[in-house]
Amino acid sequence: MGGIFLISLDFELAWGILDLPGKKTYLPRVIGARKAIPKILDLFAHHDIHATWATVGFLFFETKEELLEALPGERPRYKEKKLSPYDYLHVVGRDEKSDGLHFGASLIEKIMGTPGQEIGTHTFSHYCCLEEGVDMVSFESDVAAALRAGERFGLQLESFVFPKNQYNPAFLPILREMGIKTVRGNAQSWIYAPASKMQYNTTGKRILRLTDAYVNLTGHNVYPSQVLGKDIPINLPRSRFLRPYIKSLGFLEPRRLKRILDDLDAAAASDGLYHLCLHPHNFGEDMDTNLRFLNRILSHFSNLRKRTGMKSLSMRETYGLMVNPPRSID
Ligand SMILES: [Zn+2]
Repeated sequence: MGGIFLISLDFELAWGILDLPGKKTYLPRVIGARKAIPKILDLFAHHDIHATWATVGFLFFETKEELLEALPGERPRYKEKKLSPYDYLHVVGRDEKSDGLHFGASLIEKIMGTPGQEIGTHTFSHYCCLEEGVDMVSFESDVAAALRAGERFGLQLESFVFPKNQYNPAFLPILREMGIKTVRGNAQSWIYAPASKMQYNTTGKRILRLTDAYVNLTGHNVYPSQVLGKDIPINLPRSRFLRPYIKSLGFLEPRRLKRILDDLDAAAASDGLYHLCLHPHNFGEDMDTNLRFLNRILSHFSNLRKRTGMKSLSMRETYGLMVNPPRSID
């Protein structure tokens, strides 16, 4: 068998960074993401990689007029006002041509045009499910708007990624009701446990998470498929987040790579699921270095696939395999 290699990408452009303190310094990366996405797709096509692009609903529109018409009626009332994208609508330009930070329709078409790629949802508004001020009614209204946005492209969105890794089990029944088949949960170690922004980003946890990218602190986070269960939506937890190249830690790049290649080897050897997560905007700077790094991961996987039969699957395809496992031939 050889295990499953799952890749999901949080596709959000500027809608994922509204609350960051150094927001302005991120904008070149976000603009860079628009160039990086076609290159990531080329690599996926070259290595025959299937992936899920969890896309923020705001990106599905071509003009501001269309976007405004599609906004959900009920909205979260975050205590931290900066999290609400509805307070930023005045800065949104007229259309994708004039404002590449807030619109993504042409990129969605590019993704759809690449074999094996699934469009999933990252909620309509980058809805942060563990922050103070969220509630069931506005969450349902948000997801309904996200699904309608997908329908504009003839898509039925079935795979869900919680923004800011704020996995909230209380919302799963709503997702099931709305036809979502899989969600991406968090890696198991306490340093990755779902929490509000403030509790997730303590200095101690941040240092440990950074260290874990280079040194094996939390194991390989490979999941045997029996652990994942059959409750819909099925949780396909994250194994590792692909961090961008950091110049000052450049000398540690071989360790960062080895950490992920070792994870893949462990998944292939144990017939487990390995779920790697990417932020396209992390390829927006040092693009060639980051793309080369990804290429090395994908090349390693290609070898494993040849040797062990390991598969590259989207979240939807993984669901299909779990619900209808192939019968073994006696
Ligand atoms: Zn996000």
